[in-house]
Amino acid sequence: MPRNPLDSHAHQIDTALRLAYPEVHCALVHSNAFQLLVATILSAQCTDVRVNLVTPALFARFPTAFELAKAELTDVEELIRSTGFFRAKAKNLVAAACKLVELHGGEVPRDLEALTKLPGVGRKTANVVLGTAYGIPSGIVVDTHVKRLSTRMGLTESKTPEAIEQDLIAKLPSESWIDFSHRLITHGRAICSAHNPKCSACALETICPKIGVKSRKESAGSEPKSSRESAAKSRAGSAESNSKSSRESAAKSRGKSAGSEPKLSRGTEAKRSSAAANNERVHATKALKKPLESTEKKARGDESSKIAEMKRKREKSKAKRNDREGPKRNDHEGSNE
Ligand code: SF4
Repeated sequence: MPRNPLDSHAHQIDTALRLAYPEVHCALVHSNAFQLLVATILSAQCTDVRVNLVTPALFARFPTAFELAKAELTDVEELIRSTGFFRAKAKNLVAAACKLVELHGGEVPRDLEALTKLPGVGRKTANVVLGTAYGIPSGIVVDTHVKRLSTRMGLTESKTPEAIEQDLIAKLPSESWIDFSHRLITHGRAICSAHNPKCSACALETICPKIGVKSRKESAGSEPKSSRESAAKSRAGSAESNSKSSRESAAKSRGKSAGSEPKLSRGTEAKRSSAAANNERVHATKALKKPLESTEKKARGDESSKIAEMKRKREKSKAKRNDREGPKRNDHEGSNE
């Protein structure tokens, strides 16, 4: 019997799921606890379908913990490569098999504590093995589907798998624990998918609060389709008219600058503007040259007048000296006389 109103809601959900999925089973193909343990370790970050593709060859090569404990790591890696994280998984599988042989006679232990001490085995894997292989309700398996659905259904507000498991355990009787996860996982895959929950086709539609589920209309935005379309059309129209009007105004301005000239082709316009630019460059160069030339001339004139002045001064002083000293004496002239 439910213990409080929350239990009542959980009980309703559990009952509806039982009716919708009377027969459920684990999706990982296995024939004993050892194989289920191996398959569950491989299913981390991988789909059950992918794991089921890999395990037949793996179980054929290493059928028990004794064979797997003696396996070469590289052989195991090759067999499980496609499941992702294959090196870490191979290491854990061989190490777990060694522990099973050393501590448990090659058997998979039946208690949670011993299981969670094996390499690569956490609480979720231990719950899967104990619940599915041995029928022991050690807890509730919380994978991505269980997490998503139990939130949407209003069974938990917690975020971590451990806390979600405790919330569910508190609301459901232990006899429901094992199959409740299987049912949620099955329902999550069939109806209540992550991105497209089919609420209108869901057997739980009337009792599920659909926490965090956006209707298609909401998720597509609050505008109805027709108004979105007309807005898009109007945006497209205004963009078109804007670009049209800007083209027209550019053409007008070209027309104005050309006066009454007939319209020219782009090539002719380009040639004209280039010729005009050349003319401008020539005028500018000439205008610059003129003052330069006159400045140079002036400078040259100044220079030559300075030189002439100096020459004049030199001549003048020479003439004065000659006047004072008389004609210059030649030393050799005197000895020859
Ligand atoms: S009603 Fe919608 S949200 Fe609730 S379980 Fe069904 S599909 Fe998921």
